[in-house]
Amino acid sequence: MKGALRAAASLLPAVLLLCACGADAASHTASFLAMDTLMELTVCGRDGEAALTACEDRVRELEGLLSVTDGGSDIYRANHSGGDPVTVSPDTADLLREALALCADTGGALDVTVYPIVKAWGFTGDAYQVPSDETIAALLENVDYRRVALSGGVLTLPAGMELDLGAVAKGYAGDSLLSLLRERGVSSAILELGGSVHALGSRPDGSPWRIAVQDPEGEGYAGALEVRDLSVVTSGGYQRYFVGEDGEIWWHIMDPATGRPARSGAISVTVVSDSGTVCDALSTALFVMGPERSAEYWRARRDFDYVLLGEDGTAQVTEGLADSFSLLGGWAGRTLEVIS
Ligand code: AMP
Ligand code: MG
Repeated sequence: MKGALRAAASLLPAVLLLCACGADAASHTASFLAMDTLMELTVCGRDGEAALTACEDRVRELEGLLSVTDGGSDIYRANHSGGDPVTVSPDTADLLREALALCADTGGALDVTVYPIVKAWGFTGDAYQVPSDETIAALLENVDYRRVALSGGVLTLPAGMELDLGAVAKGYAGDSLLSLLRERGVSSAILELGGSVHALGSRPDGSPWRIAVQDPEGEGYAGALEVRDLSVVTSGGYQRYFVGEDGEIWWHIMDPATGRPARSGAISVTVVSDSGTVCDALSTALFVMGPERSAEYWRARRDFDYVLLGEDGTAQVTEGLADSFSLLGGWAGRTLEVIS
C-alpha cells in the first residue's frame, strides 16, 4: 500500500471517557509500560489500589514467561533449545495450546512461528528492511505451527524454528487480569493493554463502556462501540510500520503464506468476544485473511464479532455489533456494510 496511513502510531486512548468510572464512583488508575506497549488500567470501587498492584504484578509475571527477548522466559528457552524438549509453566502451556488451536482453525493465517520473518523485516528492532525473495523463501522453511509439539507442560520446538506469542499475549493477559479482578470482588473495570481492551461488567452507573476504534488513516477515531463484559482487540497496519525506499508501506502483520506484510485489503480489524485471547488471535488472523475470507470464517463460527476497515475506505461490521457500533469522524459519512 502507498499513501494514506496515519503519520505515526498514536497513543490515543481507546476508552472514550473523561472520568471512566463516572462522577460518583471511586476510580483508581495505573499506567505502565509492559509487553512493548502502554497499559492503562482503571478499576472502579473501593480497594482499587491493591487490585491494580496485583494486576501489574500479574502482567509482569506473564511478560517474564512469554517474552521473546528475556533470557529467562519460557519462550526464549524454547527458541534456544536446539530442538530439545523444554518444560514450560502452566500459563505458557495454556496460552500456547489455545494459540495453536487458533492457528489451525484460521488455516495458518495466525502462525505463532512466523517470528523469523518478523525479525527479517526488522520489526523486532528499529532497523527496518525489505528482505530479498531468497531470504524470505529460506526463512519460510522454518515457519509452520504444525511442527510445534506441546504435550502437557513439555514443549518441543524443532531447531531453527522460533515462537512468538506477541499476537496473542496481551489478549491472554487481559483474560487473566479479568479473572484476578473477579476473584477480588471487583465488578467494574476497564483495562487497556495497548490495542487490547477488556471490559469488566459495565460502568458503575450501569451504562456500557464506550470503546473507540482508532482511525487508521488519520489522527482521531473511526468508530466506537458499547460493550459490557467483553474484550475488544484491534490489529492495525498503522500500529507499527515503515515506509520503504520506493514509498511502499510495510507493516508488522505478516502473511505466513508469503513471508511478507499481509496485503489483504484490511487496514484495521477489531474483534469482540468474551475471550480476550480469541479476540487477540483473531484480530491478527482476520487482518491477514482480508474482507472476504474473514466473512466466510465468521459465518462458519459466529462466536465473535468484528469490525473491518478496508484500505479502500470501506467498513464492515458483523450483525452482532450492528446496533452497538457507529462510525465516527472522517468515517462517519461512509457506508457500513453489515455481514450476516
Ligand atoms: P497483533 O498486534 O496482535 O496483531 O500482533 C502482531 C504481532 O504478532 C507482530 O508485531 C508480530 O510480532 C506478530 N505477528 C505478525 N504477523 C503474525 C501472524 N500472521 N501470526 C502470528 N503472529 C504474527
Ligand atoms: Mg493479535
